Amino acid sequence: MNTRLKAKKLENYPLKAHTTLKIGGNAFEVYIPGSVEEIYEIKNSLQNERIAVVGQGSNILVSSQGVRERVVLTQNLKNYDFLDETTVKAECGIKSWNLARILLEKNLSGLEFLVGIPGSLGGAVTMNSSAHGQAIENSIECAEVLDLETNEVRTLCKPDLKLGYRNSFVEKNRHLILNATFKLQKDEHKQIAQRMDFHVDYRREKHPALSMYPNAGSTFRNPCPGVYVGKLLEELGARKWQEGNASISDKHCNFIVNKGNATSLDVSRLMYKMHQSVKQAHGYDLIAEIRYLGVPTQEEKEIWDQFTVH
Ligand SMILES: Cc1cc2nc3c(=O)[nH]c(=O)nc-3n(C[C@H](O)[C@H](O)[C@H](O)COP(=O)(O)OP(=O)(O)OC[C@H]3O[C@@H](n4cnc5c(N)ncnc54)[C@H](O)[C@@H]3O)c2cc1C
Repeated sequence: MNTRLKAKKLENYPLKAHTTLKIGGNAFEVYIPGSVEEIYEIKNSLQNERIAVVGQGSNILVSSQGVRERVVLTQNLKNYDFLDETTVKAECGIKSWNLARILLEKNLSGLEFLVGIPGSLGGAVTMNSSAHGQAIENSIECAEVLDLETNEVRTLCKPDLKLGYRNSFVEKNRHLILNATFKLQKDEHKQIAQRMDFHVDYRREKHPALSMYPNAGSTFRNPCPGVYVGKLLEELGARKWQEGNASISDKHCNFIVNKGNATSLDVSRLMYKMHQSVKQAHGYDLIAEIRYLGVPTQEEKEIWDQFTVH
């Protein structure tokens, strides 16, 4: 029993509200820690149970059949601290756009691109988020992590984080990022604000509005520099494609939008069609950028096996 846990615990809890795609069944148990100490408590109480970490859910497809893993939502871990004039240390649950705004007020440059990303800092580090030439890997110094297998807490410096294109050591090795430290550069407020406006305006023009069209950003990784999945799909006429209530955005063909009550199977089938079409036309074996969380149907399992790196 977890009766002495301080963290909020919810049972049989609908996870879809915690995703930007607004898809997903119930999670068996969800924990919402209010501090790092509460994460340790949760981990100790769960011992060897498998834990899934969710930040803002902007890069995940949650199974409509539900989630059996214990889910830790990091949304309340949002403290930050300036270690010196140009170094910030922030907890994993802080919203990326909020951190970008805080840095603007301090005239610090390096993470402007986060203003347009609807995720948490923990998600951004795990995925090595990037946009328009800026990336997490350019300014991160280190991250404090909890090894979900061994319960060990340690600090991983940038080389240890092995940040790649939308992947990292952290995800492959089942670590939970507690906080991350970034070294930034002083710049003029006006210049930083202009770069942030560029990110916001670009997204407004090129991406479907999240409030009207729930989505999880880019569905597949671009196969190589200079080759864009959205463009390849557009040329293949993908704008009209739909499976159930999931459809390809008419603004960006690498974005899938939930048109109502889409299921994880609708999205998975649409992804399969996108994947197969690009493979047949161009020979690229696309890899999913979004992550699947929960219990797949047999069909979903077979589909996701095609484009997941294990
Ligand atoms: C409209 C839109 C635009 C986007 N644009 C971009 C873009 O330009 N560039 C880009 O890189 N991404 C983009 N994304 C994708 C997404 O927002 C980012 O990858 C984001 O950083 C994910 O953060 P999150 O908190 O939502 O992660 P989640 O979706 O909650 O989780 C994603 C993965 O990270 C893991 N994770 C989350 N937090 C932690 C933690 N503390 N410790 C360990 N693992 C953790 C999860 O387990 C999961 O595997 C976009 C998404 C949307 C919806």
